[in-house]
Amino acid sequence: MKKFIMKALALSEEAYDQIEEVKSLEDFNLELTLKKKVHYCPKCDKETMYVKGYTKRKISHSFLLNRETTIFYNCRRYLCKHCRASFTESNPFTLKDQTKISSYSIISILNDLRPYNSTFSDVARRYHISVSKVVDVFDSYVQIPRKKLSRIICLDEFYFNSHSKYKYAFMIMDFEKKIILDILESRHTQFLNSYFYSIPREERNNVDYVIIDMYKNYCDLASIFFKEASVCVDPFHVVKKINDSLNIVRKRIMRKYNDTHDSKEYKLLKYRYKIILKNRDNINSDAFYYDRILGFHTNENRVLEEILKIDVDLRVAYQLKEMYIQFNDQEELTHNAKKTRIQLESIIEAMETSDIKEFTYCANTLMNWKKEILNSFVWINGRRLSNGPIEGKNNYVKKILSNANGFRNFDRARNRIIFSQNQFEKFSLTKHKKEIKKPGKNRGKYKKKNQKG
Ligand SMILES: [Zn+2]
Repeated sequence: MKKFIMKALALSEEAYDQIEEVKSLEDFNLELTLKKKVHYCPKCDKETMYVKGYTKRKISHSFLLNRETTIFYNCRRYLCKHCRASFTESNPFTLKDQTKISSYSIISILNDLRPYNSTFSDVARRYHISVSKVVDVFDSYVQIPRKKLSRIICLDEFYFNSHSKYKYAFMIMDFEKKIILDILESRHTQFLNSYFYSIPREERNNVDYVIIDMYKNYCDLASIFFKEASVCVDPFHVVKKINDSLNIVRKRIMRKYNDTHDSKEYKLLKYRYKIILKNRDNINSDAFYYDRILGFHTNENRVLEEILKIDVDLRVAYQLKEMYIQFNDQEELTHNAKKTRIQLESIIEAMETSDIKEFTYCANTLMNWKKEILNSFVWINGRRLSNGPIEGKNNYVKKILSNANGFRNFDRARNRIIFSQNQFEKFSLTKHKKEIKKPGKNRGKYKKKNQKG
């Protein structure tokens, strides 16, 4: 057992040779002293072997599940006879500035914090140390700097925390490698402006494509800071806008049947609406089932027909939506820039002249974003440009934030998200200087709710 613990204690084999004495106190606790050797005075650099005394240090070294392991280390202090300075000896098993936990434990703690579903408290329990100690270890060794902007970047906001200063944070990702380049505390224009302004112009000018959602602010931002790039809107976001318009039409028609909630029309519009939002290509006409609203055996395709029969506006709106879906779903091999532009223009025209107010509004939006929509018909290694990489991270981010009960500390959350989501993200083994922990607030007096007087 002693040997086993020793092995895990030191990072290198040679450290083992430095150990003078090891006493086994219990199965999992050890007491050890290092060999005496020449040390150099940190002040005057003269050598010394003169021992001033020993202090006993307790080092947490839990490397076995459910077993608390402690090293009692007789830490020697040397005295420099030249300048009278005294200093502690160097040791192979703790990191500088982190004398109470073995370096082996620190590395394991950091690796255990990497999965998106691990929590500070789980890890604390596993290593028999306090939660605040785990947080402290994380803050000290995991501080991830921003990464250089890549050729194709995705920009998008995500919901952070309703209690923090800024509710929405902002993510920058590399489309090709699918790694997070940076996460910013706020999506506010001023905040983003000063961030991108701080990035050297040459670096920004190397960006070829910027992918955004259909927000005017982001478009302005991209055109100011990425002069060489073409700005593209996320195709999923455009499709969502169009589906939203269709859904508004559906609700408007449904209101006509407000007085007859038990009519077939009302029920179909209320409970079967997902079928009209589905792409036509995904409508199933093979599987038959009993539909309770219609009262007969049928398939999805027939239900769709029944819904569209209800109202001519709904039918036209549905056709407009499907026109856009077909246009959007074109493939790389058959893509032709000129044809695509003409197609988009004719869809916009069809929407404008449809006499359906939700879609004339929609036509207006598409008109404003025409260039950025057309720019998004670019395929990189078979993948169409989109904000998909960020969407793909959203669920993990949500999980990380909810596991921590909603991070209050933005920097810590940022490091946590990037550390867990980017493959090959490293931690350092020297402490970072930046203080992540915010100075605590003094607890003020509080009144009990039902206090009288
Ligand atoms: Zn000295």
